[in-house]
Amino acid sequence: MDDFWDVIIVGGGVIGSASAYFLMANPDFKGRVLVVERDPTYQDCSTARSAGGIRQQFSTPENIQMSQFAVEFLSNLSETLSVDGEQPEVTMTENGYLVLASADGQATIEENVAIQHEYGAKTVLLQGDELAAQFPWLNTEDLAVGSFGPENEGWIDPYALLQAFRKKARSLGAVFVQDEVVDVIRDDDRVTGVRMESCGEISCNWLVNAAGPRAGTIAAAAGIHMPVRPRKRFIYVFDCHDGSQKPPPNMPLTFDPTGTYVRPEGKFFICGKAPAPSDDPDCLDLDVDHDYFDNAIWPDLAHRIPAFEAIKVVNSWAGHYAYNTLDQNAIIGAHPDVENMFFANGFSGHGLQQSPAVGRAISELIIQDRFVSLDLTRFGFDRIMTETPILEKNVY
Ligand SMILES: Cc1cc2nc3c(=O)[nH]c(=O)nc-3n(C[C@H](O)[C@H](O)[C@H](O)COP(=O)(O)OP(=O)(O)OC[C@H]3O[C@@H](n4cnc5c(N)ncnc54)[C@H](O)[C@@H]3O)c2cc1C
Repeated sequence: MDDFWDVIIVGGGVIGSASAYFLMANPDFKGRVLVVERDPTYQDCSTARSAGGIRQQFSTPENIQMSQFAVEFLSNLSETLSVDGEQPEVTMTENGYLVLASADGQATIEENVAIQHEYGAKTVLLQGDELAAQFPWLNTEDLAVGSFGPENEGWIDPYALLQAFRKKARSLGAVFVQDEVVDVIRDDDRVTGVRMESCGEISCNWLVNAAGPRAGTIAAAAGIHMPVRPRKRFIYVFDCHDGSQKPPPNMPLTFDPTGTYVRPEGKFFICGKAPAPSDDPDCLDLDVDHDYFDNAIWPDLAHRIPAFEAIKVVNSWAGHYAYNTLDQNAIIGAHPDVENMFFANGFSGHGLQQSPAVGRAISELIIQDRFVSLDLTRFGFDRIMTETPILEKNVY
């Protein structure tokens, strides 16, 4: 192992692999990139456990624009990320998102849709009777309004996207090594390298923190406090036998006002719901709480979609959000006190869809020293230090 690299990326999940790809693909970058990944099977990482959703339905312009770039990137991905003529397949199931609101949430949804329209999203606002007509499997009695994104919204296979970025980055010369970064070596306002569990100390010009739910530990190793915590989320897979009223295969990902979401997955459905903040401890275990489905999710499902009265859970898993406790939004860019350490962290529940835009942004910060394609300055570390949250109203 060489003891100097231009760029070291800690973590080879979808964010680290996308960053490696965008660096290596840029003809202005002449350096060498090392991606350090503690578990190349990726079995426990956030990316492999994600629901894979992509939506334009955010309330923050940058979040809308990052997802729009994801859709654009995906439309050319099989060519852009092909290796030796082999084209990766990352197909988007474009069923859309349907965000539902009772009277309480109506004004917020209307404001969100207005912002989405300003940025070119095709979200449609539907009143209660229109919802009932378009989605006859829904119980609309207590709904005031819904926003539906018929275009550029849906879901992909997250692992396929990770692997496509990783393979292409490697084919362009990025080196992926299995090891764990256990310390960050800092000299005043610069990071000079890292210490790895097996390979020891290695120097670099730039360090990228792409450690997902463990990113707070890497920041702390550099003497930086970052409010990003591993928070567990469950996904339950269920079968529904009620053929007469069952939502059709083109059912959108549907967000209930209670916070429960559900979407089709092959012949089954998947669903989840964020726990109450008081019941959301930091943790890195992957144990599934089966009672949570019975007590917190199934009643919401059965109320909103009567066919889901009779369902059977056939699978489930847990994964971790890298949860930004300040505002659930990404932290992108250098720390004001450490000029050559870049953060791409805190994505909470929407980092998969932001990975192309974030990989591109990190490459621009390293190569051009500024955001070029999309100005993500507001997502920088300054807001963390001044505790000025970006209030994204459409996060769950
Ligand atoms: C249940 C669930 C559902 C989700 N649904 C969606 C969704 O619908 N849409 C969406 O956009 N996003 C979703 N997300 C969020 C999304 O999955 C994440 O934001 C995204 O995958 C983050 O990618 P990452 O590369 O930052 O993290 P990870 O995929 O966790 O990758 C980080 C990598 O860093 C490695 N690592 C950590 N520490 C070290 C170290 N010290 N040394 C070496 N390697 C290290 C880890 O092994 C890991 O492989 C969901 C997440 C979960 C858990």
